[in-house]
Amino acid sequence: YRSLRSLIMRDGLTGLLNHTALKEQLAAEVAQAGRSGAPLALAMIDLDRFKSVNDTYGHPVGDQVLKTLSRLLRQRLRRGDIVGRYGGEEFAVIFPDTNAETARKVLDQVRLAFVKIEQHANQQIFTATFSAGVADLELAADVEEIIEAADNAMYVAKQKGRNCIELA
Ligand code: GH3
Ligand code: MG
Ligand code: MG
Repeated sequence: YRSLRSLIMRDGLTGLLNHTALKEQLAAEVAQAGRSGAPLALAMIDLDRFKSVNDTYGHPVGDQVLKTLSRLLRQRLRRGDIVGRYGGEEFAVIFPDTNAETARKVLDQVRLAFVKIEQHANQQIFTATFSAGVADLELAADVEEIIEAADNAMYVAKQKGRNCIELA
């Protein structure tokens, strides 16, 4: 049962929670935070200029970059943080018991580590970056609002030039 559930809940490429599972977890964590009054933050992460990574180096190399970031997120985030692949080159992280400012600091360490990782493509070496937005449950009424707030902050990060993290 456990392995079947894992197949249903996890993304095949990265092993992270998939979109549906992440949203389920978020609903549960938002409800829990609502009951306990504990803080909660949500980060939306999007790889920068990822289309050009695929176009330049090929789709399998793009997949390799997605795997690298998912591994780094698992390694660098704390045990209680919940990581999912939200869409193609988008990831989401739920930070229970954490306000947005602290979550941003934690994620910024991941960002700094990620930009240093050399990606290998045939004979070439390149690096990749991501942009992220972090929202606080305190400023959102429900699950949909916190997702929208994190997403909007992520787009501000893109507009500011990418490879940065914005607070909602
Ligand atoms: P931006 O910095 O604004 O986010 O630019 P971008 O190129 O990352 O954004 P855009 O939405 O134009 O392109 C996203 C690309 O991500 C296009 C799509 O082919 C690629 N992508 C999505 N899922 C996967 C995947 O599973 N593997 C690979 N290799 N590429 C993927
Ligand atoms: Mg995207
Ligand atoms: Mg992108």
